[in-house]
Amino acid sequence: MQAVRFHRHGGPDVLVYEEAPEPQLAPGEVLVRIRACALNRIDVWGRRGRPGLTIPLPHIPRSDVAGEIVGSAGVEVSPGRRVMLQPGVSCGRCVACLSGKDNECPRFEVLGHMNTSGGYAEFIKVPAQNLVSIPDEISFARAAAFPLTFLTAWHMLITRAQLKRGDDVLILAAGSGVGQAAIQIAFLHGARVFATAGSPEALEHARGLGAFEVIDHYQQDISKEIERLTNRRGVDVVLEHVGEATWPHAVASLARGGRLVTCGATTGVNAAIDLRTLFTRQLSMFGSYLGSKGELMRVARFFFAGQLDPVIDRTFPLQDAAAAHRHLEEGKPFGKVVLEVD
Ligand SMILES: [Zn+2]
Repeated sequence: MQAVRFHRHGGPDVLVYEEAPEPQLAPGEVLVRIRACALNRIDVWGRRGRPGLTIPLPHIPRSDVAGEIVGSAGVEVSPGRRVMLQPGVSCGRCVACLSGKDNECPRFEVLGHMNTSGGYAEFIKVPAQNLVSIPDEISFARAAAFPLTFLTAWHMLITRAQLKRGDDVLILAAGSGVGQAAIQIAFLHGARVFATAGSPEALEHARGLGAFEVIDHYQQDISKEIERLTNRRGVDVVLEHVGEATWPHAVASLARGGRLVTCGATTGVNAAIDLRTLFTRQLSMFGSYLGSKGELMRVARFFFAGQLDPVIDRTFPLQDAAAAHRHLEEGKPFGKVVLEVD
């Protein structure tokens, strides 16, 4: 089959479109013909590599896949059925998995991250439990753009931070994959959404998705704006994924009893907090990593009903994966960048 692989870590140019072996199925696995694969920030981290991250090379990256079932081994499926994939793979047998918390499984891995082959290819194999059927009216590009970011944002806001109707919530970096998903999910749950973005167009786009107030994170001081907009109260929930650049603002924006939930550290991993702030203001902090299959099925209902819809910035053919990575890193996309496979 044709696939995009990297044989070494580095910049976008290490992504090579070439012939690769087709996946060999083990019992319980399903072969899917890929029609679209969306990019995520984690794709860039995997491609660049880092000390301590051992990815067997050459490697077919990534996680956000939609396509059609081709066949299976030792498990009954319907060939031709249109599906998207749960982007997390787990053992399916441990206490965490059997408690519906498969993203807490000791063997949990994001699809295509290290030991599993990913979606920059014509075919992928996955355990049967990773399949989610999609309705005919949903395009493969939209279906591929949905799972990772909407599942991540759902797990952060609904499961971890327990977002409630009437909460004030601050969503950082509205134009990111997680940002655009989080605004829609928070709006759907009756929260008042404050969102940050880096250009007038992106701010307008954030309003269109449901943001009540918007803050230009390059031109304005985020926490001062939140103080002004909430009449000095602060917000109940902050969705953080930017890291060092925004962390002090994220903490300072919290109301008493506020909850901060984080899933990323794009601008740096080191964060500090004054412990007196933590205890006197009775703050809660949550780490969050992807989400469970059950949560994906739950959030997908809103997608299929037309109440949530991933924003697609641009699509590229699979063979232009390097250009797509460059666009993700330098093009300031609003929403998702998607690879399409003929
Ligand atoms: Zn498990």
